[in-house]
Amino acid sequence: MIIVVNFCYSGRYNGAEMKLESDGILIDLRPFNERDGIARVMTREHGLMGGVMRAAQVMKKNRPLVGQFGAVAWNARLDTQLGTFHWDATRNLAAPILMNARRLMFMNAAFGLITTLVPERESFPHLFDETIELLTALGDETTNASFFYLQWEMAFLRELGYALDLTACSGCGRRDNLVYLSPRTGRAVCGVCGEPYRDRLYRLPLCMDITGRFIDAACTAQGVSMPPSRRMIHD
Ligand SMILES: [Zn+2]
Repeated sequence: MIIVVNFCYSGRYNGAEMKLESDGILIDLRPFNERDGIARVMTREHGLMGGVMRAAQVMKKNRPLVGQFGAVAWNARLDTQLGTFHWDATRNLAAPILMNARRLMFMNAAFGLITTLVPERESFPHLFDETIELLTALGDETTNASFFYLQWEMAFLRELGYALDLTACSGCGRRDNLVYLSPRTGRAVCGVCGEPYRDRLYRLPLCMDITGRFIDAACTAQGVSMPPSRRMIHD
């Protein structure tokens, strides 16, 4: 993949113009007025970018669609302004996912979580790579969609500072008999160490109901509510 990054600060009487160019995934698009849309594009080096896509709702050809991968050019008068996108889709990663309701739910949940919890213009390259991997897996009907989605949520939580460690017991260090997970530390606890606290621990194996509780905690910490698309996900 060739990535073109171009910072351009051109001094003018009315202030600096900021321009960014990259490749990314269109993860959110909502109506702004009758013609335009407010979009969020996730890129590898600039993170999540928000801005206006002109005529996004009325274009006859090449209408932008959530789940597309493409080249994005974003510019704004000031760094703090919303900015405007030029979007040039090169492929639609969502096309093979749309046929399958459950796989589509996973894609929508991932996009909803990114939109809700990932701060804008902060780079999360691992999360970007994991998201591409998730979309590729969801688009291949031979893969285990639940497995890949759970892997993605673990990566998502790790990037947000809620890393789950399922490799060893946080009490004694043993690597077998790991039957609990601590809601407080996100670390595994073996059956012996966890026995006295079993009512307060999550029971392994890890599932989406457990990662959902950590996501809920992340939402509470940020003062936002869990996106409806994630609420629909259960094991
Ligand atoms: Zn232990």
